[in-house]
Amino acid sequence: MYGIAVHGGAGTPPRGQIEPARERRYHEGMLAALDAAREVLERGGSSLDAVVRAVVVLEDDPMFNAGRGAVCTREGHHELDASIMEGAALRAGAVCGLRHVKNPIELARAVMERSPFVMLGGAGAEEFALAEGFALVPNEYFRTEERWQQLQRVLTAGDAPLPLAHVGTVGAVALDVHGHLAAATSTGGMTAKRYGRIGDSPVIGAGTYADDRACAVSATGHGEIFLRNAVAHDLCARMRYGGASLDQAVHDVVHGELVARGGEGGVIAIDRHGRIAIDCNVEGMFRGSLTAGGEPRTAIFREP
Ligand code: ASP
Repeated sequence: MYGIAVHGGAGTPPRGQIEPARERRYHEGMLAALDAAREVLERGGSSLDAVVRAVVVLEDDPMFNAGRGAVCTREGHHELDASIMEGAALRAGAVCGLRHVKNPIELARAVMERSPFVMLGGAGAEEFALAEGFALVPNEYFRTEERWQQLQRVLTAGDAPLPLAHVGTVGAVALDVHGHLAAATSTGGMTAKRYGRIGDSPVIGAGTYADDRACAVSATGHGEIFLRNAVAHDLCARMRYGGASLDQAVHDVVHGELVARGGEGGVIAIDRHGRIAIDCNVEGMFRGSLTAGGEPRTAIFREP
C-alpha cells in the first residue's frame, strides 16, 4: 500500500472566477506532482523521496506560491520557507528566509540529513546551501508578473487585511510501501509580508509534522494562527493520545480550533493505513491525491 496527497495552497480565487485555461493549468500542475511521487512510490521508493519530488514539481511551477512564482515581500523581493519531516525516526529539517535557493525543500532535506540541526535561516542557510553544492539563483528568478501585480494591488489597498487569495503554499504527504510517513511544505509566505517574517510552513509542528504512530500533515493558511495552534502536531496528538481517527482529527482542527480563532486554511494528511484526509474551512484549496492502484484525483473548490 502507498498513498500521496498534495496541495497547492488554500488561497484560491473565488468559485467561478478562474478562467477555464487557468483552472486546467492548476490541475495539470497537481497531476504532475502526483505523477512524480507515484513514480517513486511504485518502485518501492521512500515517502521522503516522494514528497520531495512532488514539492519540487510544485516549486518549479509558477502557478503556485513556492519556488518560482512565490509572492513578493512588501519591498518586492521573495523570501522562501520550507520544511520536511519523516515519521519513522521523527527526523526533520527546515529553512526560512531564503532568497537564492531554487528548491527550498531540497535544502530543508539537506539540513535534516547533512547537518546536526533542524532549522537554518537566512544568510546562514544560504551559506550552508553553497557549502553543500546547491546552485544559487538571483532573487528575480522567483518573480512573475502576476505576483508583482498582486503586490501592487495589496500596497494600493493600504493596510487592509490580506485576503487569503494572496497567500498559498505547496505541500505533500505520503505513505510508502514500507509503512513510513513523510510530510513536506514549501512557501513564499504572504504577499506584502514584512521582510524577515516567518510563517508556519517551515515550523515543525505548525505547518508540517509526520509521525508513523499517527499521520503526516502539511498545512496551508493564515500562518500566524496556524503557528499559535501548532496545527500539524495538534492533529497528530489527537490521534496518538486522544484516539481520534484521521478524519475526526482533521475535521476538529480545521473546523473547530481554527475557525474559533479565525484561522482560514486547510490541511492534507495521511495515516499509516494509507487513509487520506483533506479539508479546508475556506471556499477552495488546490489539492490532489492518489493511492496504489487508483486514479489520481485533483480538485480546487470545496464540495457543495
Ligand atoms: N501558511 C503560509 C504562511 O503563512 C501561507 C499559506 O499557506 O497560504 O506563510
